[in-house]
Amino acid sequence: MKDNFGRDITYLRVSVTKRCNLNCVYCGKTVCEKKESELSPEEIEKLVSAFAKCGITKVRLTGGEPLVRNDICDILGRIRRIDGIRTLALTTNGVHLSRYAKDLKQAGLDSVNISLDSTDGSTYRHMTGADVLKKVLEGIEEAQRAGLSPIKINAVLMKGINSDGAGDLIELARENEIDVRFIELMPFSDEGENASLLVTGDEILRRYPFLEPVVSEEGFARYYASAGFRGRVGLIEPISHKFCSSCNRVRLLSDGKVRPCLGYETVYDLMPFIDDESRLIREAREIILRKPAGHSFENKNAAHGLNRTGG
Ligand code: SAM
Repeated sequence: MKDNFGRDITYLRVSVTKRCNLNCVYCGKTVCEKKESELSPEEIEKLVSAFAKCGITKVRLTGGEPLVRNDICDILGRIRRIDGIRTLALTTNGVHLSRYAKDLKQAGLDSVNISLDSTDGSTYRHMTGADVLKKVLEGIEEAQRAGLSPIKINAVLMKGINSDGAGDLIELARENEIDVRFIELMPFSDEGENASLLVTGDEILRRYPFLEPVVSEEGFARYYASAGFRGRVGLIEPISHKFCSSCNRVRLLSDGKVRPCLGYETVYDLMPFIDDESRLIREAREIILRKPAGHSFENKNAAHGLNRTGG
């Protein structure tokens, strides 16, 4: 259905947990959430079903880290069976992916985005707080073997921290049928000001002039490639190229609240209506209608870290 600004809202991001097994520098402090406060697979199914009745066709599971939930395949299977859901995706840091890839595919997962900010072991450890680069690389291989498609790598560049390694990440798109996407650093860190660390999409294009535009209708990313590339390089630029006018998503948080825009703290709690299907659908419609016109990242720290919200 269309929101009040004429945008067709078709995409629901579902944070299944705030818990995470990494502690990325740009994501806010690690959250200790009790498992009991997370939605159950049945509750997630009810909430996603209500949104499907409002025109949602694509669901992405995220977190926190979705693969820390050992009932993740149950959650996927339930969503897969909901009428109207055509695309089922997941975003993960990849640490547990080699163990789960086949089961995720079997449970109905189509595609996976894997966060990887550096291919250098010590930079990776510095950015995530964990010495698990090898496991993530194994996870990417296992996802390919399991037939998950497309596979996309998400990287956040920070000046002076991992920005020199952008070329090595781009090489992954040359050598593999994988898209490597650079997401501009958003101001969510509890450390406060991080604008000086921002590497914009245009800076990446200046630094790697061999990248040429590829026509694509998908999502918000601008895509690039070069002769001999098997994958593409994508730029996601929420700071330098605001894409709110074509935003098609709302976010379900791990406690049953819904956030219509990542840039605002405003949330709507659906849990009081969890056992009333028609009320849930009415509330979901209202939330979509109330989606704000655009984010407000220019107001520093407008929102919580993505580990709490669901990236
Ligand atoms: N744990 C999963 C993962 O690591 O992919 C899913 C959650 S994570 C919050 C989702 C995405 O948000 C990751 O690709 C991460 O790089 C991105 N992200 C987190 N904080 C960010 C920030 N301040 N600016 C830009 N992207 C951010």
